[in-house]
Amino acid sequence: MSKFSIAIHGGAGALSDVSEHRTALTEIINEAANLASNASAIDVVERTVVLLENHPLFNAGKGSVLNNKGEVECDAAIMNGTDLDAGAVAGVRGIKNPVALARKVMSDSEHVMLVGDGALEFAASVNAPTEQLDYFVVESRLKQLEEAKKAGKVVLDHSDTEEEKLGTVGAVAIDDKGNLAAATSTGGIVNKKFGRVGDSPVVGAGVYAENGLCAVSATGFGEQFLRTTLSKHIGDWMRYNHVDAQSAAQAGIDYLVEKVNGLGGVIVVDANYNIGIAHSTPLILSASICSGETGARLDF
Ligand code: ASP
Repeated sequence: MSKFSIAIHGGAGALSDVSEHRTALTEIINEAANLASNASAIDVVERTVVLLENHPLFNAGKGSVLNNKGEVECDAAIMNGTDLDAGAVAGVRGIKNPVALARKVMSDSEHVMLVGDGALEFAASVNAPTEQLDYFVVESRLKQLEEAKKAGKVVLDHSDTEEEKLGTVGAVAIDDKGNLAAATSTGGIVNKKFGRVGDSPVVGAGVYAENGLCAVSATGFGEQFLRTTLSKHIGDWMRYNHVDAQSAAQAGIDYLVEKVNGLGGVIVVDANYNIGIAHSTPLILSASICSGETGARLDF
């Protein structure tokens, strides 16, 4: 079996009943481990995030949170640590798997990020699968938006509402050749202004991968991760301090809290196949597995 390490997340926040999330993340991390036995890190993170996007429990693809117009607008990015190649889409509607479209932006265009109508035109040119807009909307998100509007708030998918639903998804992986990759996908935050873009599709904020160093996927209040360029901060922390994934993840979250009192979490895998997970929220829904291990670790 090839050597690999993978970590995935389904958002950071607080949630009293995590049983459904445990089941979903266990299934998905096991599937990711199967993929990893003969796929490159970049393929593993893309295909794993597709599974997370297709699961209605998570705030990405189907099941995304709603903006202030009651619509789903998705952001996603993918980054290949081999050559720092990256692709991203922001504010896309009707695209079944935003992360797969981000991968196409990386491989089939000369750009890193496409948004809105331009992204949709590109999606059509590469035959990206689409869905009717109501495919993305699940019942619980309508209630969540109603509550946020009533409270007059823009809220994290996983903030202090009665039933706090966690959401945004991501994956980081290293393969047997030492290639690192990361991907992040989200519907954003509840009741966000139409057109708002968070950290998830922005290289260095919600996603980062660099061979020899680490791969990072972030989740939390996007504006705080943008202002701290948190994923790149974690990479640089490792570069200059020569620490492992766990110390770098914790250093990143400490910086997020110190500088902007930020709320969220990160998953990190380093070039030595170590996993790091840290959060300033009560929990991050995360799971990880390394080659040779009999089962996945769930950290919530
Ligand atoms: N980071 C995402 C955003 O701000 C939200 C999340 O991680 O739940 O768009």
